Amino acid sequence: MQIVEKIKNGGVVGAGGGGFPTHIKGQSQVEYVLANGAECEPLIHKDVELMTHRSAEILDGLQLMMESTGATRGVVGIKKKNHNAIAIFRQALQGTDFELLELGDFYPAGDEYELVQLATGRLIPPGGIPLDVGCVVSNVETLFNVSKAVKDSPVTHKFVSVAGLVKEPKSFWVPLGSSYRDLLDFAGGTTQSDFVMLVSGVLMGGFSTDLDEVVTKTCAGLIVLPADHYLVSRKTRSTEQMNRIGKSACDQCTACTEICPRYLLGYDVQPHKVMRSLSFTTSGADYWNKFATYCCSCGLCTLYACPEDLFPREACDQAKKSMQDAGVQYQQTKAPKIHSMKNYRRVPTKSLLRRLRIAKYEVSTPLVEGFPLPGEVRILLQQHAGKPAVPVVKTGASVTTDDLLADLPENSLGARIHAPLSGQVTEVTATYIRIVADAGTESGGKVV
Ligand code: SF4
Ligand code: SF4
Repeated sequence: MQIVEKIKNGGVVGAGGGGFPTHIKGQSQVEYVLANGAECEPLIHKDVELMTHRSAEILDGLQLMMESTGATRGVVGIKKKNHNAIAIFRQALQGTDFELLELGDFYPAGDEYELVQLATGRLIPPGGIPLDVGCVVSNVETLFNVSKAVKDSPVTHKFVSVAGLVKEPKSFWVPLGSSYRDLLDFAGGTTQSDFVMLVSGVLMGGFSTDLDEVVTKTCAGLIVLPADHYLVSRKTRSTEQMNRIGKSACDQCTACTEICPRYLLGYDVQPHKVMRSLSFTTSGADYWNKFATYCCSCGLCTLYACPEDLFPREACDQAKKSMQDAGVQYQQTKAPKIHSMKNYRRVPTKSLLRRLRIAKYEVSTPLVEGFPLPGEVRILLQQHAGKPAVPVVKTGASVTTDDLLADLPENSLGARIHAPLSGQVTEVTATYIRIVADAGTESGGKVV
């Protein structure tokens, strides 16, 4: 069977957050495959743990993706500060043609546009994807999963970090569909009763207080913060409030644009202009919305740059949605050209930690095995880009670890989903499949 078929059968999707089905990337023909181990979201350190402890599988996955895509160059991107992981990869790369790309400790070093430019010197065309310049970018955990899938072991677990207000910050594998409650328990529980969770990242991640939410193939982990933390007030404003404050308080200082990583790479992203769409000019929102088109929602403008604590990233998100709803497109015609100040305006992670008032939560999250078998898992059918997977099991069915639970939607983008543990299917709905675990199954379902 071809590599790409095995990847498809194994339900591999982008584990770095995008959830794009990896078999589609594996079908392309490119020159470079880039292993993305930049891990730039503060406080989450799962990728560096994986690189420290599972380098052989990551490199095997990289080799397989290169074979599948016909790539001749394989590059591993990792931050210079991760000395242990770098030493391990240097050793592992000896005598191979793979290259190591050491990255500075900046945010967002892991953005595909940034990584492609740093690794190849090429700029992705405005609105394009790495494929447009002969590259495939895959997160290191995705490559780990590729290696497993080609050995007929599908994606059933997720590697996550849990940090912040927990007794034992750590990284570990959990069966898909495990609850956030299970994750916090394995991290020793929280150190404060009044807390919130940032899911998968401080800047680009979501926000939750629901312990019954479950882990998907794109979840990077949980960051537990006090309920009255500065970031909570920044992330819980209503759209109406954000717009009202932005409309009255934005003085068009342009700090948001001057720090924007996409603007500095030469793309026509200008959040200060998008702020004008909040209607403090008479020109109309449509004209100003277009300056959000190439925004990657990294969050720097809102959470780092704006001296008034306004919400330019959210204004950009609204602008992109409004353009999409109206079927309006904007195409930058000028070729991107890197801003002369780009290297001087990069945002160091240390500054970001201070600005976001989370420096005290910055600790290592070492890999720990032995996540206990959850009593049940709730497997979401939509945990990847594309359409939801289609259940192939019915309520009452018995399933064994690795069994297919839900298949690819016909003729559509999507991914298969497999059972992370043995048990009985107790519920199949339009959005999830619930499995109650058989008693006595080994720790966490299977050994990853
Ligand atoms: S940084 Fe803030 S105040 Fe300045 S232009 Fe941007 S949104 Fe307005
Ligand atoms: S979120 Fe802000 S800083 Fe980030 S790409 Fe969009 S406009 Fe630029």
